[in-house]
Amino acid sequence: MLLDDLVNSKTRKIGYKTKIKFKCDICGENYLRHNYIYRKMKKNKYYDKDYCFSCWMKKINSTKEFKKSLKNYWNSDEAKEVRKRASSRMKNKYVKYPELKESLSKTLKKRYEDKKLREKISKSVKLAHEKDSSIRKRISISLKKSGANIGDKNGMKKLEARKKVSEARKKMFLNPKIREEYSKKIKKAWEDGKFDGVRVGQCKWYEYEHSNGNIYKVQGTWELAFIKWLDDNGLEFRCHRGRIPYKLGDKNKNYYPDFWIYKWKSYADVKCRYFYSEEKFDAIKKSNPSVKVIILFKEDLIKLGVNL
Ligand SMILES: [Zn+2]
Repeated sequence: MLLDDLVNSKTRKIGYKTKIKFKCDICGENYLRHNYIYRKMKKNKYYDKDYCFSCWMKKINSTKEFKKSLKNYWNSDEAKEVRKRASSRMKNKYVKYPELKESLSKTLKKRYEDKKLREKISKSVKLAHEKDSSIRKRISISLKKSGANIGDKNGMKKLEARKKVSEARKKMFLNPKIREEYSKKIKKAWEDGKFDGVRVGQCKWYEYEHSNGNIYKVQGTWELAFIKWLDDNGLEFRCHRGRIPYKLGDKNKNYYPDFWIYKWKSYADVKCRYFYSEEKFDAIKKSNPSVKVIILFKEDLIKLGVNL
């Protein structure tokens, strides 16, 4: 529905780029559209009402002509070339940055753990299969054609492939330029919140059987090496207990230190520089002037004689 009489007005000029106000006849949303686009759309035989962009897309995407042209495009040499290029770009990316693949697979796994989403997907897949019984066959053919990673064919499951990737990765990290570029990219992704909710890095938990008979759960190989060192040196500690409240800006936060070392009368935190936030630890110190926290970076652990 036209909301201004601009189009029919004789006193005001309507130009090529004049924006006209509409109300969508499908969803009721108000929208503005350039005059020249409106003219173009009106020539379309499917334009029987006034559609906002998303309602128009829905309308067009469901027409026979669109489906046919999509199919034609999909099978065209141009589209094939585009797909090929995109796929090889992705492959190169994965070889260059194996972490990308890992983090993607983590995200997918996480999504899969979402029961509601899983049900929704399975429902829509079922519906699609009911609508078109040839889907299964077509999917199978196209998967075979593309040599997809399914079932036992999953290359990463094969030790050899895994080794290859790991070697390629090691080689690549010998190049300081690549290392720097990679680190920059990951840092940026980190800052952009790409890894929010995904535990990257020190995510693996290990159990350590202490000579005192207790079993301690520690996170990551550095903590594991450190706890072993504490044990070997007869240093008593508490592990993953306690909470230090602090203020960061005007926010109340809690810090959960890794260890309390009795002899040192101090908390100790094994940290990779990458995950270390000076701002955070400054805030902790400021809020708790009498509390001692020793941050142990890799070089500190090595100095102590921890076997990393
Ligand atoms: Zn609409």
